[in-house]
Amino acid sequence: MEQNRFRSTVKWLGAFSDKIIVHCPNCNSKAQLLRRWAEYRKYNDPYDFQCNHCHTEVRELEKHIYSINRNCPFCAEIMTYKSAPTTKIKKEIEVSCDQCQKKLCYPPKIEIIKEWISKGKTVELHYWYETKYKGEWFWALNEEHLEYLEQFIASKLRERSLYRSGMMLVDKLPQFIKDKKNRDSLLKTISKLKEK
Ligand SMILES: [Zn+2]
Ligand SMILES: [Zn+2]
Repeated sequence: MEQNRFRSTVKWLGAFSDKIIVHCPNCNSKAQLLRRWAEYRKYNDPYDFQCNHCHTEVRELEKHIYSINRNCPFCAEIMTYKSAPTTKIKKEIEVSCDQCQKKLCYPPKIEIIKEWISKGKTVELHYWYETKYKGEWFWALNEEHLEYLEQFIASKLRERSLYRSGMMLVDKLPQFIKDKKNRDSLLKTISKLKEK
């Protein structure tokens, strides 16, 4: 679940996602992910992991999830298939119909996911600036992002135009952050995170 969140949010937080502060999976210190611009890819930017405390190596591994969702051309039964994440490249997937047992090949839909590998094992990376707030996750990618959220929460007017600047982040913020009655306690939460 953590990994899902990580993947899906980085995409629309483009303006803040050059550097992501995380817990080192090896020593738990403050570590960072730095975007590798030389290899810019639209949907799945590559990152370099860096822990200046233990210098452990964490690398990214791209995996594919293949899926098929079609009606059987012989009997119209719905055929669904979803693979486990794999590094294999597949252009076609063979599916068999549960109803009429026919086997068919189709080009699959491909979802690209990213895993983090350290010492030969898959590890999870967690944001450094992350805490539970009234049962919800409050988190920020880095200091600048935390600062942005703090300014947004502290501002009385919260003018949209002020926070737009091409990012449209305000629209994506969860309701508990926009809720005025949470203002003071959220600001306290942020100052605690800043001291971390
Ligand atoms: Zn470390
Ligand atoms: Zn069939």
